[in-house]
Amino acid sequence: MTDCLFCKMVSGEIKPAVVYENEHALAFRDIRPRAPVHVLVIPKRHCATLDDLPTDDPALAAALLGAVQKVAELEGLANGYRTVINCRGDGGQEVYHLHLHVLGGRAMAWPPG
Ligand code: C5P
Repeated sequence: MTDCLFCKMVSGEIKPAVVYENEHALAFRDIRPRAPVHVLVIPKRHCATLDDLPTDDPALAAALLGAVQKVAELEGLANGYRTVINCRGDGGQEVYHLHLHVLGGRAMAWPPG
């Protein structure tokens, strides 16, 4: 999608601080970090929300979760981390290109607000 912020990061039109990428996923640092480590993992193909992730392409979901594991390894999150997907309005989603937040470097509270 030409007017999607995260698609522009995939295409290189906007250059995020990339942490990791694989064939299907790109991981970069969140510009407003909510934890010492805050990385976003996105699919390279546009999916607006989690509900738009094609379930007929298991390689895509596997690549996203594999990227989360790799980010945790690269960022030294051996003590644990949290992964969050905000979905649409009630979920608090602001950017409508699916992204997995990877938060770590401190103990997380529960429940989230
Ligand atoms: O899940 P949600 O849609 O609310 O999260 C969007 C995230 O994208 C926010 O954490 C925000 O800081 C991040 N963001 C970013 N770079 C931008 C715009 C938003 O990292 N240019």
